[in-house]
Amino acid sequence: MELVHEGILKKFEILKGKLIVGKADIKGSNSEERLPPDEYVSEAHILHNLVRGFYKPAGKPYILSYQATESNKNYGKQIIWRDNNQSEFLRIEMAPPDKENDYSKKSDIASARYNLKNNIPLGILHKIKKGHNRILGLGIITSERNDGVFVVEPFSYKGLLYPLDELKRLINDEEINTSFVAEVVQRRGQAIFKKKLLEDSAECAICRMDEPSLLIASHIKSWKYSSNFERLDKYNGFLFCPNHDKLFDQGFITFTDDGKVVISNILTPKTKKTLGLTEGLCIILDEAHKKYLSWHRENCFKG
Ligand SMILES: [Zn+2]
Repeated sequence: MELVHEGILKKFEILKGKLIVGKADIKGSNSEERLPPDEYVSEAHILHNLVRGFYKPAGKPYILSYQATESNKNYGKQIIWRDNNQSEFLRIEMAPPDKENDYSKKSDIASARYNLKNNIPLGILHKIKKGHNRILGLGIITSERNDGVFVVEPFSYKGLLYPLDELKRLINDEEINTSFVAEVVQRRGQAIFKKKLLEDSAECAICRMDEPSLLIASHIKSWKYSSNFERLDKYNGFLFCPNHDKLFDQGFITFTDDGKVVISNILTPKTKKTLGLTEGLCIILDEAHKKYLSWHRENCFKG
């Protein structure tokens, strides 16, 4: 990816949360139609062309930024919020045009797939109303759903800026652990981790639920206690539906080295039945899962 475009993405991260009224700070003023060079971007540039949702720089195979709306006039609700303040998104459901003969449809799909395949993040704008855009930071496409929607999850360059040792120190530091930095680092890692797991299988390891945007990449050895390698090691995780993720994460279930489920005695027969847990239940394991599972049985499972 071109340096100038990386600079634009970093700018999206810096501007996160900012409300921009008018187009002068997004694509320049009327006469110039470009933003001047600055400390992040070495040449005249734009953040988004404000023409339609997908913004692809001329001649490039990737999407650089996306303008999401919640209006029914466009593609319906695309932003799933993480909080009530509507400042952080949990995910963006990015839909290419749905009309078969829309000339942009094919190129939008091709470019979104390019971002997905090559791990290229994209800047996200929220069009609140005409001329009012809020910068939501960066996202990374983690999957393409069966209905053609591309699922975008939060991404952060801040994590990339720290050398590994520094990152480790920050995350292990109790004070900083609760801070924004640690959180963006974790979310960035989480999105990449989920993407890795989705490449092997795109369903809940227990019940086979296969809606990608609802699947959760669950760490076996928890993030907090894992090394940087372990945090992104695909064998240190399973994809689960929200129910099975909670059960595993909170130690109500674990697995033997043969993949047989072990269910905590805390759960009542009724709960077990409701959540689809039966004693014979088995999941497929790789040799590399075992050292993490042993950690989970010893440190997490509520026997
Ligand atoms: Zn499940």
